[in-house]
Amino acid sequence: MATARFRFYAGLGDFLPPARRQRDFDVACVRDASVKHMIEALGVPHTEVELILIDGAPAGFERPLRDGERVAVYPHFTALDLAPLPALREAPPAPLRFVADAHLGGLARRLRMAGFDTLYRNDYPDDEVAAIARRDGRVVLTRDRELLKRRDVIHGAYLRALRPADQLRELVVRFGLAPSFRPFSRCMACNGLLRAVDKAAVADRLPPSVRARHTRFTACDACGRVYWAGSHWRRMCAAIAGVVAGAQ
Ligand SMILES: [Zn+2]
Repeated sequence: MATARFRFYAGLGDFLPPARRQRDFDVACVRDASVKHMIEALGVPHTEVELILIDGAPAGFERPLRDGERVAVYPHFTALDLAPLPALREAPPAPLRFVADAHLGGLARRLRMAGFDTLYRNDYPDDEVAAIARRDGRVVLTRDRELLKRRDVIHGAYLRALRPADQLRELVVRFGLAPSFRPFSRCMACNGLLRAVDKAAVADRLPPSVRARHTRFTACDACGRVYWAGSHWRRMCAAIAGVVAGAQ
């Protein structure tokens, strides 16, 4: 039986019991257990780990642990360029695309509102979320850490916040999304792309008051929903601007 000394830095402590946060602690490891296996057994999903140092040297997930080694585990740091170090995983394909689990409908709508390709259904089973992520190279969004521990989930993000606006802010910070915002390019309801349409083409789908007051419209290529710059639209614009400003 090997004993290794672990320390988890910054936000990774959120996954640990309070007595293990921001301090070293010894763990008995199964013989030849990989460092990834031990990190996840301690409660931290692999998707949340960006850098592992074993006795000060960068290590990959599959590195077996030996008796007496010191393991330092770090999350993503926005202020630190890790490019000179070997990456734990390949970067997700650009532009970033997401798949949100069945509990994150509010976040999915806001991501779409900001223009990010985000798949979501309120009845997605975990297996389907993982399969979609693997098929498309999408980032799994969830508050279920067990989903993020799955071997077939490569890219993921655990959302700490409960409110969708705060969850969006977390993602903006973690993935540096602010420059990629394209508000109202995507349908909030179905993730389809929006395109400008002539008023005449959609007039029969508009409430009379909207038909009287507005001249510019977009429609969803996939579901046909029509959008216009009404008060709801303006409130959403302000909310998005607030998220970007608050995340910088
Ligand atoms: Zn649509």
